[in-house]
Amino acid sequence: MFVMYEKENMKVPVKVWLEKNEDLESTCREQALHLAQLPFLHKWVSLMPDTHAGMGMPIGGVIAAEGVIIPNAVGVDIGCGMAYTETNIPVEAIRGIQTGNGTLIQAIIGDIMRNIPVGFAHHKLAMPSYTMDRAFDEIDLYEEDKELLGQLEAGYFQVGTLGGGNHFIELQTDDEGMLAVMIHSGSRHFGKSVCDYFHNKARELNSKWFSQVPDEYRLAFLPVDTPEGCQYLRWMQLSMDFANENREKMMLAVKAVLEKYIGKYTDLKLEFSGDINCHHNYAALETHYGKEVWVHRKGAVRAGNGELAVIPGAMGSYSYVVMGKGNPESFCSSSHGAGRLYSRKGAMAAFSCEDVIRDLRDQGVVLGKKGKADVAEESRFAYKDIDAVMSAQQDLVIPVKRLKTVGVVKG
Ligand code: 5GP
Ligand code: MN
Ligand code: MN
Repeated sequence: MFVMYEKENMKVPVKVWLEKNEDLESTCREQALHLAQLPFLHKWVSLMPDTHAGMGMPIGGVIAAEGVIIPNAVGVDIGCGMAYTETNIPVEAIRGIQTGNGTLIQAIIGDIMRNIPVGFAHHKLAMPSYTMDRAFDEIDLYEEDKELLGQLEAGYFQVGTLGGGNHFIELQTDDEGMLAVMIHSGSRHFGKSVCDYFHNKARELNSKWFSQVPDEYRLAFLPVDTPEGCQYLRWMQLSMDFANENREKMMLAVKAVLEKYIGKYTDLKLEFSGDINCHHNYAALETHYGKEVWVHRKGAVRAGNGELAVIPGAMGSYSYVVMGKGNPESFCSSSHGAGRLYSRKGAMAAFSCEDVIRDLRDQGVVLGKKGKADVAEESRFAYKDIDAVMSAQQDLVIPVKRLKTVGVVKG
Protein backbone atom coordinates (compact mmCIF):
# COMPACT_ATOMS: atom_id res chain seq x y z
CA MET A 1 0.00 0.00 0.00
CA PHE A 2 1.19 3.54 -0.67
CA VAL A 3 -0.17 6.95 0.31
CA MET A 4 -0.57 10.03 -1.90
CA TYR A 5 -0.60 13.36 -0.12
CA GLU A 6 1.33 15.64 -2.38
CA LYS A 7 -0.84 18.47 -3.73
CA GLU A 8 -1.65 21.44 -1.49
CA ASN A 9 -5.28 21.36 -2.51
CA MET A 10 -5.78 17.83 -1.21
CA LYS A 11 -7.86 17.95 1.97
CA VAL A 12 -7.31 14.28 2.77
CA PRO A 13 -4.70 11.71 1.66
CA VAL A 14 -5.36 8.85 -0.73
CA LYS A 15 -4.40 5.33 0.37
CA VAL A 16 -3.84 2.99 -2.54
CA TRP A 17 -3.66 -0.80 -2.10
CA LEU A 18 -1.05 -1.13 -4.84
CA GLU A 19 2.69 -1.41 -4.50
CA LYS A 20 3.85 1.82 -6.08
CA ASN A 21 2.79 5.05 -7.74
CA GLU A 22 3.41 3.79 -11.28
CA ASP A 23 0.85 1.02 -10.75
CA LEU A 24 -1.93 3.63 -10.68
CA GLU A 25 -3.24 4.58 -14.11
CA SER A 26 -3.25 8.37 -14.78
CA THR A 27 -7.02 8.97 -15.19
CA CYS A 28 -7.64 6.98 -12.04
CA ARG A 29 -5.04 9.04 -10.15
CA GLU A 30 -6.62 12.27 -11.40
CA GLN A 31 -10.05 11.14 -10.22
CA ALA A 32 -8.62 10.16 -6.82
CA LEU A 33 -7.08 13.64 -6.48
CA HIS A 34 -10.49 15.18 -7.24
CA LEU A 35 -12.03 13.12 -4.47
CA ALA A 36 -9.30 14.20 -2.06
CA GLN A 37 -10.36 17.83 -2.57
CA LEU A 38 -13.91 17.25 -1.33
CA PRO A 39 -14.54 19.25 1.86
CA PHE A 40 -16.64 16.60 3.62
CA LEU A 41 -14.54 13.42 3.63
CA HIS A 42 -13.59 11.59 6.83
CA LYS A 43 -9.94 10.47 7.15
CA TRP A 44 -8.90 9.57 3.59
CA VAL A 45 -9.83 8.12 0.20
CA SER A 46 -9.16 4.37 -0.12
CA LEU A 47 -8.46 2.74 -3.46
CA MET A 48 -8.67 -1.06 -3.59
CA PRO A 49 -6.12 -3.07 -5.64
CA ASP A 50 -8.61 -3.54 -8.53
CA THR A 51 -9.02 0.22 -8.97
CA HIS A 52 -9.40 1.84 -12.38
CA ALA A 53 -11.04 4.99 -13.78
CA GLY A 54 -14.82 5.27 -13.53
CA MET A 55 -17.42 8.00 -14.00
CA GLY A 56 -16.28 10.80 -11.66
CA MET A 57 -14.92 8.40 -9.03
CA PRO A 58 -12.63 5.41 -9.64
CA ILE A 59 -14.08 1.90 -9.57
CA GLY A 60 -12.56 0.15 -6.56
CA GLY A 61 -12.87 3.40 -4.58
CA VAL A 62 -14.15 3.83 -1.04
CA ILE A 63 -14.96 7.15 0.65
CA ALA A 64 -16.55 8.00 4.00
CA ALA A 65 -18.57 11.21 3.71
CA GLU A 66 -19.98 13.27 6.57
CA GLY A 67 -23.65 14.11 6.05
CA VAL A 68 -23.40 13.98 2.28
CA ILE A 69 -24.13 11.50 -0.50
CA ILE A 70 -22.70 11.52 -4.04
CA PRO A 71 -24.72 9.61 -6.66
CA ASN A 72 -21.67 9.03 -8.88
CA ALA A 73 -19.70 7.70 -5.90
CA VAL A 74 -22.30 4.95 -5.52
CA GLY A 75 -22.21 4.28 -9.24
CA VAL A 76 -24.61 3.96 -12.12
CA ASP A 77 -25.59 0.36 -11.44
CA ILE A 78 -26.80 0.90 -7.88
CA GLY A 79 -26.67 -2.35 -5.91
CA CYS A 80 -24.62 -4.19 -8.52
CA GLY A 81 -23.08 -7.19 -6.81
CA MET A 82 -22.65 -10.93 -6.51
CA ALA A 83 -24.78 -13.91 -5.56
CA TYR A 84 -23.15 -17.24 -4.76
CA THR A 85 -24.13 -20.76 -3.76
CA GLU A 86 -22.27 -24.04 -3.49
CA THR A 87 -23.45 -27.59 -4.08
CA ASN A 88 -22.59 -31.10 -2.96
CA ILE A 89 -22.02 -32.22 -6.58
CA PRO A 90 -18.50 -33.14 -7.76
CA VAL A 91 -17.96 -31.51 -11.16
CA GLU A 92 -16.23 -34.67 -12.43
CA ALA A 93 -19.39 -36.66 -11.73
CA ILE A 94 -21.33 -34.59 -14.30
CA ARG A 95 -18.65 -33.43 -16.75
CA GLY A 96 -18.59 -36.52 -18.98
CA ILE A 97 -22.36 -37.04 -19.25
CA GLN A 98 -23.90 -36.66 -22.72
CA THR A 99 -27.45 -35.39 -23.32
CA GLY A 100 -29.49 -34.82 -26.47
CA ASN A 101 -28.13 -31.26 -26.28
CA GLY A 102 -24.36 -31.81 -26.00
CA THR A 103 -22.65 -32.47 -22.66
CA LEU A 104 -24.61 -32.04 -19.45
CA ILE A 105 -22.77 -28.81 -18.72
CA GLN A 106 -23.56 -27.47 -22.20
CA ALA A 107 -27.21 -28.43 -21.74
CA ILE A 108 -27.35 -26.67 -18.36
CA ILE A 109 -25.74 -23.50 -19.75
CA GLY A 110 -28.17 -23.58 -22.71
CA ASP A 111 -31.17 -23.98 -20.43
CA ILE A 112 -30.04 -21.14 -18.16
CA MET A 113 -29.95 -18.93 -21.27
CA ARG A 114 -33.47 -19.98 -22.22
CA ASN A 115 -34.79 -19.30 -18.72
CA ILE A 116 -33.07 -16.01 -17.90
CA PRO A 117 -33.18 -13.01 -20.27
CA VAL A 118 -29.59 -11.93 -20.98
CA GLY A 119 -28.04 -8.86 -22.60
CA PHE A 120 -30.45 -5.95 -22.92
CA ALA A 121 -33.48 -8.26 -22.87
CA HIS A 122 -36.22 -7.86 -20.29
CA HIS A 123 -39.19 -10.18 -19.65
CA LYS A 124 -42.04 -9.90 -22.16
CA LEU A 125 -44.55 -10.11 -19.31
CA ALA A 126 -44.56 -8.53 -15.87
CA MET A 127 -42.99 -10.84 -13.24
CA PRO A 128 -43.67 -10.94 -9.51
CA SER A 129 -41.44 -8.56 -7.54
CA TYR A 130 -41.83 -8.05 -3.80
CA THR A 131 -39.54 -5.00 -3.98
CA MET A 132 -41.74 -3.22 -6.50
CA ASP A 133 -44.90 -4.32 -4.61
CA ARG A 134 -43.49 -2.69 -1.50
CA ALA A 135 -42.71 0.50 -3.44
CA PHE A 136 -46.32 0.68 -4.62
CA ASP A 137 -47.54 0.03 -1.06
CA GLU A 138 -45.48 3.01 0.11
CA ILE A 139 -46.00 5.06 -3.02
CA ASP A 140 -46.28 8.37 -1.14
CA LEU A 141 -42.56 8.05 -0.34
CA TYR A 142 -41.71 8.13 -4.03
CA GLU A 143 -44.46 10.25 -5.60
CA GLU A 144 -42.46 13.45 -5.52
CA ASP A 145 -40.02 12.16 -8.16
CA LYS A 146 -42.55 11.92 -10.96
CA GLU A 147 -39.96 11.26 -13.65
CA LEU A 148 -38.96 8.03 -11.91
CA LEU A 149 -42.41 6.61 -11.23
CA GLY A 150 -42.58 4.85 -14.61
CA GLN A 151 -39.50 2.88 -13.56
CA LEU A 152 -41.51 1.18 -10.83
CA GLU A 153 -43.75 -0.42 -13.49
CA ALA A 154 -40.73 -1.23 -15.64
CA GLY A 155 -39.12 -3.00 -12.67
CA TYR A 156 -41.61 -5.88 -12.97
CA PHE A 157 -40.20 -6.60 -16.44
CA GLN A 158 -36.56 -6.28 -15.32
CA VAL A 159 -36.49 -8.40 -12.19
CA GLY A 160 -34.59 -11.67 -12.77
CA THR A 161 -32.73 -10.48 -15.89
CA LEU A 162 -28.95 -10.52 -16.25
CA GLY A 163 -27.94 -7.47 -18.29
CA GLY A 164 -25.04 -7.12 -20.70
CA GLY A 165 -21.26 -6.85 -20.80
CA ASN A 166 -19.55 -7.76 -17.57
CA HIS A 167 -22.63 -9.35 -15.98
CA PHE A 168 -22.47 -13.12 -15.86
CA ILE A 169 -23.71 -16.41 -14.49
CA GLU A 170 -20.93 -18.94 -13.88
CA LEU A 171 -20.78 -22.59 -13.00
CA GLN A 172 -17.53 -23.07 -11.13
CA THR A 173 -15.47 -25.70 -9.41
CA ASP A 174 -13.79 -25.14 -6.06
CA ASP A 175 -10.37 -26.60 -5.20
CA GLU A 176 -12.09 -29.75 -3.88
CA GLY A 177 -13.84 -30.19 -7.24
CA MET A 178 -17.32 -29.25 -6.01
CA LEU A 179 -19.79 -27.37 -8.23
CA ALA A 180 -20.66 -23.76 -7.29
CA VAL A 181 -22.67 -20.95 -8.92
CA MET A 182 -21.76 -17.26 -9.09
CA ILE A 183 -24.02 -14.50 -10.46
CA HIS A 184 -22.98 -10.90 -11.19
CA SER A 185 -25.78 -8.40 -11.82
CA GLY A 186 -27.34 -5.26 -10.42
CA SER A 187 -30.46 -3.09 -10.56
CA ARG A 188 -30.68 -3.12 -14.36
CA HIS A 189 -32.17 -0.04 -16.03
CA PHE A 190 -34.01 0.87 -12.83
CA GLY A 191 -30.90 1.82 -10.83
CA LYS A 192 -29.33 3.65 -13.77
CA SER A 193 -32.41 5.89 -14.06
CA VAL A 194 -32.17 6.67 -10.35
CA CYS A 195 -28.47 7.54 -10.60
CA ASP A 196 -28.90 9.75 -13.68
CA TYR A 197 -31.91 11.57 -12.26
CA PHE A 198 -30.30 12.39 -8.89
CA HIS A 199 -26.89 13.18 -10.36
CA ASN A 200 -28.55 15.82 -12.54
CA LYS A 201 -30.59 17.09 -9.62
CA ALA A 202 -27.38 17.36 -7.55
CA ARG A 203 -25.64 19.25 -10.37
CA GLU A 204 -28.45 21.82 -10.53
CA LEU A 205 -28.45 22.31 -6.78
CA ASN A 206 -24.65 22.45 -6.52
CA SER A 207 -24.53 25.21 -9.12
CA LYS A 208 -27.23 27.12 -7.23
CA TRP A 209 -25.25 26.80 -4.00
CA PHE A 210 -21.98 27.93 -5.67
CA SER A 211 -20.47 24.58 -4.70
CA GLN A 212 -16.67 24.39 -4.44
CA VAL A 213 -16.75 21.08 -6.30
CA PRO A 214 -16.22 21.81 -10.03
CA ASP A 215 -18.96 20.40 -12.26
CA GLU A 216 -16.40 18.68 -14.51
CA TYR A 217 -15.32 16.47 -11.60
CA ARG A 218 -18.72 14.76 -11.95
CA LEU A 219 -18.99 14.44 -8.20
CA ALA A 220 -22.12 16.48 -7.56
CA PHE A 221 -23.35 15.83 -4.02
CA LEU A 222 -26.55 15.98 -1.94
CA PRO A 223 -26.53 16.72 1.80
CA VAL A 224 -28.59 13.96 3.43
CA ASP A 225 -30.66 16.49 5.37
CA THR A 226 -32.04 18.12 2.22
CA PRO A 227 -35.31 16.86 0.67
CA GLU A 228 -33.37 15.75 -2.42
CA GLY A 229 -30.74 13.94 -0.35
CA CYS A 230 -33.49 12.10 1.56
CA GLN A 231 -35.19 11.15 -1.69
CA TYR A 232 -31.96 9.86 -3.19
CA LEU A 233 -31.39 7.66 -0.13
CA ARG A 234 -34.90 6.21 -0.49
CA TRP A 235 -34.47 5.47 -4.18
CA MET A 236 -30.95 4.15 -3.62
CA GLN A 237 -32.20 1.71 -0.97
CA LEU A 238 -35.02 0.64 -3.29
CA SER A 239 -32.51 0.05 -6.10
CA MET A 240 -30.29 -1.98 -3.74
CA ASP A 241 -33.25 -4.10 -2.63
CA PHE A 242 -34.25 -4.54 -6.27
CA ALA A 243 -30.72 -5.64 -7.22
CA ASN A 244 -30.75 -8.11 -4.36
CA GLU A 245 -34.08 -9.52 -5.50
CA ASN A 246 -32.85 -9.61 -9.11
CA ARG A 247 -29.88 -11.81 -8.16
CA GLU A 248 -32.05 -13.93 -5.84
CA LYS A 249 -34.59 -14.60 -8.63
CA MET A 250 -31.84 -15.58 -11.07
CA MET A 251 -30.22 -17.84 -8.48
CA LEU A 252 -33.59 -19.58 -7.97
CA ALA A 253 -33.87 -20.06 -11.74
CA VAL A 254 -30.33 -21.50 -11.96
CA LYS A 255 -31.02 -23.82 -9.02
CA ALA A 256 -34.19 -25.05 -10.77
CA VAL A 257 -32.23 -25.79 -13.97
CA LEU A 258 -29.60 -27.69 -11.97
CA GLU A 259 -32.32 -29.69 -10.13
CA LYS A 260 -33.91 -30.60 -13.44
CA TYR A 261 -30.76 -31.73 -15.25
CA ILE A 262 -28.91 -33.34 -12.36
CA GLY A 263 -32.15 -35.09 -11.37
CA LYS A 264 -32.70 -36.35 -14.91
CA TYR A 265 -29.16 -37.46 -15.78
CA THR A 266 -27.69 -38.63 -12.46
CA ASP A 267 -28.64 -40.39 -9.22
CA LEU A 268 -27.09 -37.59 -7.18
CA LYS A 269 -29.16 -35.76 -4.58
CA LEU A 270 -28.48 -32.08 -5.14
CA GLU A 271 -28.12 -29.81 -2.12
CA PHE A 272 -27.23 -26.13 -1.87
CA SER A 273 -25.44 -24.31 0.93
CA GLY A 274 -23.32 -21.29 1.78
CA ASP A 275 -25.45 -18.71 -0.06
CA ILE A 276 -24.07 -15.16 -0.25
CA ASN A 277 -25.67 -12.10 -1.84
CA CYS A 278 -23.65 -8.87 -1.58
CA HIS A 279 -23.57 -5.42 -3.17
CA HIS A 280 -20.44 -3.81 -4.57
CA ASN A 281 -21.95 -0.44 -5.63
CA TYR A 282 -23.71 1.21 -2.71
CA ALA A 283 -23.55 3.55 0.26
CA ALA A 284 -24.35 2.76 3.89
CA LEU A 285 -24.31 4.66 7.18
CA GLU A 286 -21.54 3.13 9.30
CA THR A 287 -19.31 4.17 12.17
CA HIS A 288 -15.59 4.50 11.45
CA TYR A 289 -12.96 6.06 13.70
CA GLY A 290 -15.69 7.25 16.07
CA LYS A 291 -17.85 9.01 13.49
CA GLU A 292 -21.08 8.11 11.70
CA VAL A 293 -20.33 8.44 8.02
CA TRP A 294 -21.83 7.52 4.66
CA VAL A 295 -19.42 4.90 3.35
CA HIS A 296 -19.60 4.86 -0.45
CA ARG A 297 -18.32 1.61 -1.98
CA LYS A 298 -18.08 1.94 -5.73
CA GLY A 299 -16.73 -1.36 -6.95
CA ALA A 300 -15.81 -2.50 -3.45
CA VAL A 301 -17.36 -4.94 -1.00
CA ARG A 302 -17.85 -4.68 2.72
CA ALA A 303 -15.21 -6.81 4.44
CA GLY A 304 -16.14 -6.44 8.10
CA ASN A 305 -14.48 -8.80 10.59
CA GLY A 306 -15.71 -12.35 9.85
CA GLU A 307 -18.09 -11.22 7.08
CA LEU A 308 -18.15 -13.18 3.83
CA ALA A 309 -17.98 -11.57 0.38
CA VAL A 310 -17.46 -12.62 -3.23
CA ILE A 311 -14.59 -11.42 -5.43
CA PRO A 312 -14.84 -12.58 -9.08
CA GLY A 313 -11.74 -12.69 -11.32
CA ALA A 314 -12.68 -13.18 -14.97
CA MET A 315 -14.20 -15.87 -17.16
CA GLY A 316 -11.73 -18.74 -17.46
CA SER A 317 -9.83 -17.50 -14.42
CA TYR A 318 -10.13 -17.80 -10.64
CA SER A 319 -12.69 -16.13 -8.39
CA TYR A 320 -12.78 -16.06 -4.58
CA VAL A 321 -15.08 -16.21 -1.61
CA VAL A 322 -13.38 -14.20 1.10
CA MET A 323 -13.74 -13.44 4.80
CA GLY A 324 -13.25 -9.83 5.84
CA LYS A 325 -10.65 -8.82 8.41
CA GLY A 326 -12.51 -5.66 9.40
CA ASN A 327 -9.53 -3.45 8.65
CA PRO A 328 -10.61 0.13 9.47
CA GLU A 329 -8.04 1.61 7.07
CA SER A 330 -10.16 0.55 4.11
CA PHE A 331 -13.36 1.39 6.06
CA CYS A 332 -13.85 -2.41 6.30
CA SER A 333 -13.77 -2.89 2.51
CA SER A 334 -11.92 -4.86 -0.14
CA SER A 335 -11.74 -5.12 -3.93
CA HIS A 336 -14.87 -6.25 -5.79
CA GLY A 337 -13.03 -8.12 -8.54
CA ALA A 338 -9.80 -8.18 -10.45
CA GLY A 339 -10.53 -4.87 -12.17
CA ARG A 340 -10.05 -3.89 -15.77
CA LEU A 341 -6.59 -3.69 -17.29
CA TYR A 342 -7.85 -2.78 -20.77
CA SER A 343 -10.84 -0.58 -21.59
CA ARG A 344 -13.57 -2.35 -23.57
CA LYS A 345 -12.30 -0.75 -26.77
CA GLY A 346 -8.67 -1.47 -25.88
CA ALA A 347 -9.48 -5.12 -25.24
CA MET A 348 -11.27 -5.44 -28.58
CA ALA A 349 -8.16 -4.07 -30.31
CA ALA A 350 -5.72 -6.23 -28.34
CA PHE A 351 -7.49 -9.62 -28.38
CA SER A 352 -9.33 -11.38 -31.17
CA CYS A 353 -12.67 -13.04 -30.77
CA GLU A 354 -11.19 -16.35 -32.02
CA ASP A 355 -8.33 -16.28 -29.49
CA VAL A 356 -10.69 -15.72 -26.58
CA ILE A 357 -12.99 -18.54 -27.69
CA ARG A 358 -10.02 -20.88 -28.26
CA ASP A 359 -8.57 -20.06 -24.84
CA LEU A 360 -11.87 -20.98 -23.17
CA ARG A 361 -12.23 -24.15 -25.25
CA ASP A 362 -8.66 -25.23 -24.39
CA GLN A 363 -9.56 -24.90 -20.72
CA GLY A 364 -12.76 -26.89 -21.19
CA VAL A 365 -14.91 -23.85 -20.31
CA VAL A 366 -18.41 -23.85 -21.84
CA LEU A 367 -19.28 -20.35 -23.13
CA GLY A 368 -22.94 -19.32 -23.39
CA LYS A 369 -23.20 -16.06 -25.28
CA LYS A 370 -25.62 -15.02 -28.03
CA GLY A 371 -23.60 -12.49 -30.05
CA LYS A 372 -19.91 -13.38 -29.80
CA ALA A 373 -18.56 -10.34 -31.73
CA ASP A 374 -17.71 -8.43 -28.51
CA VAL A 375 -16.43 -11.41 -26.51
CA ALA A 376 -12.86 -10.00 -26.48
CA GLU A 377 -14.06 -7.13 -24.22
CA GLU A 378 -14.39 -9.78 -21.52
CA SER A 379 -11.20 -11.76 -22.19
CA ARG A 380 -9.51 -12.79 -18.96
CA PHE A 381 -6.44 -10.94 -20.24
CA ALA A 382 -8.47 -7.71 -20.30
CA TYR A 383 -8.61 -7.92 -16.49
CA LYS A 384 -5.84 -7.70 -13.90
CA ASP A 385 -4.42 -10.94 -12.54
CA ILE A 386 -6.77 -11.84 -9.68
CA ASP A 387 -3.99 -13.51 -7.70
CA ALA A 388 -1.91 -10.32 -7.76
CA VAL A 389 -5.01 -8.41 -6.59
CA MET A 390 -5.58 -10.92 -3.77
CA SER A 391 -2.00 -10.70 -2.60
CA ALA A 392 -2.21 -6.89 -2.50
CA GLN A 393 -5.10 -7.08 -0.01
CA GLN A 394 -3.94 -9.68 2.49
CA ASP A 395 -4.52 -7.10 5.22
CA LEU A 396 -8.19 -6.76 4.17
CA VAL A 397 -9.49 -10.29 3.50
CA ILE A 398 -8.69 -13.99 3.95
CA PRO A 399 -9.50 -16.24 0.96
CA VAL A 400 -12.02 -18.89 2.01
CA LYS A 401 -12.59 -20.58 -1.34
CA ARG A 402 -10.91 -20.43 -4.73
CA LEU A 403 -13.17 -21.15 -7.67
CA LYS A 404 -12.53 -21.69 -11.38
CA THR A 405 -14.92 -21.24 -14.31
CA VAL A 406 -16.51 -24.42 -15.69
CA GLY A 407 -19.22 -22.74 -17.76
CA VAL A 408 -20.26 -19.11 -18.18
CA VAL A 409 -23.30 -17.23 -19.45
CA LYS A 410 -22.40 -13.71 -20.58
CA GLY A 411 -24.78 -10.88 -21.38
P1 5GP B 1 -17.75 -4.66 -12.45
O1 5GP B 1 -18.76 -4.77 -11.39
O2 5GP B 1 -16.76 -3.59 -12.15
O3 5GP B 1 -18.33 -4.55 -13.79
O4 5GP B 1 -16.98 -6.05 -12.51
C1 5GP B 1 -16.64 -6.78 -11.37
C2 5GP B 1 -15.53 -7.74 -11.63
O5 5GP B 1 -16.03 -8.96 -12.16
C3 5GP B 1 -14.48 -7.35 -12.66
O6 5GP B 1 -13.54 -6.47 -12.10
C4 5GP B 1 -13.86 -8.69 -13.02
O7 5GP B 1 -12.77 -8.97 -12.19
C5 5GP B 1 -14.97 -9.70 -12.75
N1 5GP B 1 -15.52 -10.35 -13.95
C6 5GP B 1 -15.95 -9.76 -15.10
N2 5GP B 1 -16.44 -10.68 -15.96
C7 5GP B 1 -16.31 -11.89 -15.34
C8 5GP B 1 -16.65 -13.24 -15.71
O8 5GP B 1 -17.19 -13.54 -16.78
N3 5GP B 1 -16.37 -14.21 -14.79
C9 5GP B 1 -15.80 -13.95 -13.57
N4 5GP B 1 -15.57 -14.97 -12.74
N5 5GP B 1 -15.46 -12.70 -13.22
C10 5GP B 1 -15.72 -11.68 -14.07
MN1 MN C 1 -23.32 -3.89 -12.88
MN1 MN D 1 -20.70 -5.01 -10.85
